[in-house]
Amino acid sequence: MSVNIVSETKREILEKAPPENAVSHIWHKGTNPASDRIIAYVNKHAEAKMRNHALAYRDKKLEVMGLLLGEVRTWQGQEYVLIRDVVTTDLDATSVSVKFDDKGFEKLFAGLDDSGFDYVVVGWYHSHPGYGCFLSETDIKTHGGIFVSAHQVAIVIDPLNFQMEAFLLRDNIGQIHQFKVYWDTWDDPYGGLKKVKK
Ligand SMILES: [Zn+2]
Repeated sequence: MSVNIVSETKREILEKAPPENAVSHIWHKGTNPASDRIIAYVNKHAEAKMRNHALAYRDKKLEVMGLLLGEVRTWQGQEYVLIRDVVTTDLDATSVSVKFDDKGFEKLFAGLDDSGFDYVVVGWYHSHPGYGCFLSETDIKTHGGIFVSAHQVAIVIDPLNFQMEAFLLRDNIGQIHQFKVYWDTWDDPYGGLKKVKK
């Protein structure tokens, strides 16, 4: 794993309001009575990429994994990440694990190095085909070892139970939080049409 990319996450944090056009994810079912904080806004195309990735391997019950790319922002004293895109690569997967060792992540980070984009890794996503959304012991080790910044998010998708959740790691516990899917104004098929206020 490249140290350069981790240091990317220490870039200056933008003070910027969250996207206006945003809704809760239809697969978001988890609750956290201690927090209704929104930790991530996922671009609708990035969300579709992740979801379709997980769905494509659903029938074989294989886990998938990828990286979340975007920016770190703060607004009214709360940090959140804006996930603009996701990347992945061919991974060796079984039904209970993708390559969570350095090799799996090396592959992903190597792909990024070739991309030439200006990016910040704001977290990672992976799937749990059929066994619910949580951070396993392995996930917690992975997250704690690679995604060291407090704002870095883990998204877990269960494509069999139609669930998607976002987690932060605190005190070695995966805490579930709110996240939203957003779209840009130009990306709304009904853009320009005024919503009728009730
Ligand atoms: Zn997992």
